[in-house]
Amino acid sequence: MIELLLPSHGRDVAVGKILCIGRNYAKHAAEMQSEVPEEPIVFLKPSTALVGHGGTVILPPQSQDVHHEVELVAVIGRGGKNIPEEKALEHVDAYAVGLDMTARDLQAEAKRKGQPWTVAKGFDTFAPLGPLVDARRVRDPQNLEIRLTVNGEVRQQGHTRDMVFSVARLIAYCSRIFTLLPGNLLYTGTPDGVGPVRDGDVLEAQITGFPVLRVKVRRNG
Ligand code: MG
Repeated sequence: MIELLLPSHGRDVAVGKILCIGRNYAKHAAEMQSEVPEEPIVFLKPSTALVGHGGTVILPPQSQDVHHEVELVAVIGRGGKNIPEEKALEHVDAYAVGLDMTARDLQAEAKRKGQPWTVAKGFDTFAPLGPLVDARRVRDPQNLEIRLTVNGEVRQQGHTRDMVFSVARLIAYCSRIFTLLPGNLLYTGTPDGVGPVRDGDVLEAQITGFPVLRVKVRRNG
């Protein structure tokens, strides 16, 4: 699943890059004992991390503490560079619910050593993505409830109005660094309530009005 069928394109488009935002909800920053950032914290995942609804998240042998982070994902339909914030949502083709799976132990070690998060965030299957919802059906991406259950038990519950930086602001910000291309994904950060997943868990990520994203978790080896 490295290509996506974009609603307005009617054909498969390569994902190319996956942009992700760290600490975009104040309560999540607090639970990580971190400051709310003054500018967006941007990192990348490889497209090989994608897995779709009904797929399996593989826990890698390098980590003993993989966490779930449920997030709103914006799918870019029209590319651009230096996109103004007030035009930014016109570049979104679809939205989806996604999971930013994170090897928390490896991330903590990277933070301690001042190293990048790429390994902690980039394993295969670490970017589950739900079915796409046409952006024209989403009136306001800042007015969505977002939820994650693990084995039927609610673990994360948040609202996109609590984002530190709005989807439009994030697109404008990222487009000043990276040329955005159709098929690029933007994972917009997680609300609080992150926690570990285990072999055999079933994760269900939901955003109001969106189809559910269900994945199971398996340990590799
Ligand atoms: Mg995240």
